[in-house]
Formats: sequence, C-alpha cells, structure tokens
Amino acid sequence: MKDHEFISELREAFKREVYPGEKDILHCSYDKAWGGTLDGPCRECSEVVSYFKNMGQYGHPPRKLGWVAFGLTKLTPEAFAFWLPSFIETSVLYGVEADSVIESLEFRFESLESKEWQDSHIGKLSKEQLIVIKKFFSLSLEKNLTDDDLYNSSICTLEYYEKKFC
Ligand SMILES: [Zn+2]
Repeated sequence: MKDHEFISELREAFKREVYPGEKDILHCSYDKAWGGTLDGPCRECSEVVSYFKNMGQYGHPPRKLGWVAFGLTKLTPEAFAFWLPSFIETSVLYGVEADSVIESLEFRFESLESKEWQDSHIGKLSKEQLIVIKKFFSLSLEKNLTDDDLYNSSICTLEYYEKKFC
C-alpha cells in the first residue's frame, strides 16, 4: 500500500471527529476544576494545551509534534480521536524524523498502557478507525520503524477492541 493511499483512508476514517474546544483538550488532574490543588493545568499540561489550542487536525511538523508527543496520553478521548490521525500521518510522512511521535503511538497501543486508559480512548474508536490504525502499524513494521514485539502487542490491543463490533 502506498503512503498517499493509506493517508486518504486514514483521513476518511477520522473525518467526522471535531475540534474538542480549548477546555476539553485535556483535563489536568492537578487543576481544581478536576479535583486537584492548582488554579489551572500543571506546566506539562499547559504546554500541551497551548500547542493544540485552535490547531487543525493535520499538517503538524514532526519536530513540533514531537515536542508535545508525550501529551497524547493526556488528551481527553474526544481530543485523542481528533488528533490521533495527525500523529499517524506525521509518522508516515516523516518516518525516522518523527521517531518520538511514532514512539508515543506505540506506548498508547501496546499492552503496558493501562487498560482503563485504553478502554476510555481506544474503546471509543470506530471499527473503520481501528482497522486503519492496524494498517499503520503494518506499514511501520514494513519500514522498520517499529519492532516485532511492539507491533504484535499493538495489533493485539486493536483486535481486542475490534471484537466488540462482532
Ligand atoms: Zn497536568
């Protein structure tokens, strides 16, 4: 499968996702609004919010997205579904140059990520979306951007959530 064919399939699968709005990009647990002790998000979360605020779904340069790639785990399920395809697209287009973006994707889908997080984020994706993410990991394996263990673990997670559609 060629990169541009994959990308049009990816964009098609995520085209119904909408920008979550500034207040729902993430819910920092240190913020009083979410039961914490600070008047607003912590420094790490603020960095993620200021990057994604008013940001479109695609066209993220690999270095900039790489700086906030750790934030993928902090995004609300809605924000995750909206920007996940940009993480995938940047990984496909830039390869090794986007290695920290690819790594952040691997961490979310592999078996070491918490089941609670995966249920609330990956569990909300559609069957079409889960299938296109599996294709992304296959493509990454073909290009040697991921290893067999991370590939197998991610596919296993994706198939687990796909089963609920059977
Ligand atoms: Zn925080």
